[in-house]
Amino acid sequence: MADGTHTTFCRICEALCGLRVTVEDNRVVEVHPDHEHVATRGFSCPKGLKQARLYDSPDRVRYPMKRLGQKWLRVSWDQALEEIGARVKQLRATRGPDSLAMYVGTAAGFGVLHPVFAQGFMTGIGTKSMYASATQDCSNKFAVARELYGHPFTQPFPDLEHLECLIIVGANPVISKWSFLQVPNPGRTLQELRERGAKVIVVDPRRTETAKLADQHVFIRPNTDPFFFLSFLHELEAQGGVDRARAQAVASGVDELLALAREWPAERTAEVTQVAAPVLKQLVHAYRTAKGAALYSSTGVNMGSNGSLGFWLQEAINALSGNLDRRGGTLVGRGVIDFPAFGKKNGVLVRDDRSRIGNLPSVNDAFPGGVLADEILTPGDKQVRALFVTGGNPLITMANAGRLKKAFGELELLVTLDLFRNETGSLAHYVLPATSPLERPDLPFIFPLMLGLQKEPYLQATRALIEPDGEQRDEATIYLQLCKASGVNLFGSAFAQKLLEGLLWLNSRLFRKGRQPALPQEALLSFLLRITGQGSFDALLEHPHGRLRERHVPHDFVGQRLLTDSKKVRLDSPILLEQAKKLGADFERERQAQQRLKLITKRAVQTHNSWTHNHEDFVHDKTNHLYMHPGDAARAGLSDGALADVSTDTGTVRVPVKLLSDLMPGTVALPHGWGHQHATGLSVASKTRGVNVNLLAADGPDRIERVSGMAHLTGFDVDVKPAAGPQDPTSWSGLPPA
Ligand code: SF4
Repeated sequence: MADGTHTTFCRICEALCGLRVTVEDNRVVEVHPDHEHVATRGFSCPKGLKQARLYDSPDRVRYPMKRLGQKWLRVSWDQALEEIGARVKQLRATRGPDSLAMYVGTAAGFGVLHPVFAQGFMTGIGTKSMYASATQDCSNKFAVARELYGHPFTQPFPDLEHLECLIIVGANPVISKWSFLQVPNPGRTLQELRERGAKVIVVDPRRTETAKLADQHVFIRPNTDPFFFLSFLHELEAQGGVDRARAQAVASGVDELLALAREWPAERTAEVTQVAAPVLKQLVHAYRTAKGAALYSSTGVNMGSNGSLGFWLQEAINALSGNLDRRGGTLVGRGVIDFPAFGKKNGVLVRDDRSRIGNLPSVNDAFPGGVLADEILTPGDKQVRALFVTGGNPLITMANAGRLKKAFGELELLVTLDLFRNETGSLAHYVLPATSPLERPDLPFIFPLMLGLQKEPYLQATRALIEPDGEQRDEATIYLQLCKASGVNLFGSAFAQKLLEGLLWLNSRLFRKGRQPALPQEALLSFLLRITGQGSFDALLEHPHGRLRERHVPHDFVGQRLLTDSKKVRLDSPILLEQAKKLGADFERERQAQQRLKLITKRAVQTHNSWTHNHEDFVHDKTNHLYMHPGDAARAGLSDGALADVSTDTGTVRVPVKLLSDLMPGTVALPHGWGHQHATGLSVASKTRGVNVNLLAADGPDRIERVSGMAHLTGFDVDVKPAAGPQDPTSWSGLPPA
């Protein structure tokens, strides 16, 4: 793009902050927040403002790379595509299509064309072996939404502009920037909410940054959320907060759920949640007496051992209290199309596949990441022999990363599409260089675009601001070319394949002489906008700070867009009721484990999962820390700065302790995304000493949640002891299992 300052938006997290980016000589020289943006209004964070420096790194993968033993060779695109395609053809013919798998990471979700073309390639191959990062942090929401509302992408969200009471459980939006809802400036939003008289309550095992802005913070013992929600529902009914006739008009299974909740009075669950009964009753009173109220939860609930039950109960409370689809309660957004209705009608993201290992359900047409190692290591029909990793780094982000690494070493073909040769890429046979967000045109990703999961709905378009400085290609183009090289058609459609190949040829010949071939991405995005009645891409560009859409309205979902057979919220989902039968045993287990320390995650504003650690500005401390309450540290014989060994039956990591009195006693916190010492292509991150918390988390079919397939990644029991034995000064990760 020409030199000058251009508007765009950040595509690192769900906040999608509007940015002003100054370009000189095809280089980004400055990034500032866009104060005129219609929704984000000048909000941003250090990650977004420094992203160009991250992408500019000398470590950036700029050419296709092939690994020969420990050596990396630069190869041409033709060679890489031809060799990968030949291997795909051979595996498809000899081991069957399902032997070829794909892992779709979070970064893929922040573009519009990337996930569509990645899926198109796998559909073309004819494989169902899809895996996604959602099984680490949010598949429970999709699995439960499908049961309750008929499609996984129906996701009610709090009506932040009108509610009078917001109870946030296991979420820290001030740092994470909210999730399943675009709220550009969560801190200010919460302050505004309080200024107009609404009450904000945070229930969390840590006095988080969000809790510090709230009216009230209540500690809860990690991984006990379902018991909290059950008692909440019990008490809601006891206080007269459930109008059964009204509830039965909206939902099926009202009586079953209320009967279940009656078994869990606050006095009973307090023993494990450590939320005193009077406190819980007071929270219910605040929720019940507000004119509009919402319960909202995120990863603290999602990633527990019962994330699906937790979310089910939360949604049930919002529905049974009359807050679903109500002004000031929870609303269901509208995207540019009714995507859930489209998906239900056309079978998109609602397949009923079961995993080969563990017979677990797919969610959003993807299998649980927690069985991927088993799927690779277990011989037999459909054994995974090849893996494409697109926009993700499973060797840092998935449970039992140590075992997964061994499994990846067994693959006949591992290909990553990424900006960097990260831990996963370091084991790959080929690393294909992808464009950064600043190098591609885009629209807001699928949540805002297709679901309207935005506090203030709007649309925005951005051009690519710079050209890649090497041979990077956008993922849509790469997957189209991989289809051709593999002898398959995108989405199995010869027409689509030929048409897109023709567009690629034309665009590359006419408009991209001397540059890397690329699909006309703006034209494809424009097509998407036009068929959804949103005008053209160019027309949207005329609104450089975004174009507002119609605001969300209540009474727009129940009776109109609910997709269950009964047209009611299906609270009596058989799979959830079945899962609820294990709550008694889980309660007993929690009772027995009262003295154990529980480990939770903790997010920092500088980092986003495992992405940003390859820049000095984001890793000042050069390590993560095990945060401990001073009392717990003293009991364990540890002090600030001391090295601790943290163990589970899966692994042990060694990490320095930092005292934090904001933690609930009995809880320790270890930020995720660290442990890059094995990455051969991350020169900054690999010199940090942090540890990968996921070396501690268990995988395998018996250790993951049966409804959503999620691994248990937060709120699990750990042993913490002073570090024993020789202490390696360069790295404190990777100790053998205890
Ligand atoms: S909060 Fe930060 S990372 Fe997220 S979109 Fe905004 S600038 Fe980007």
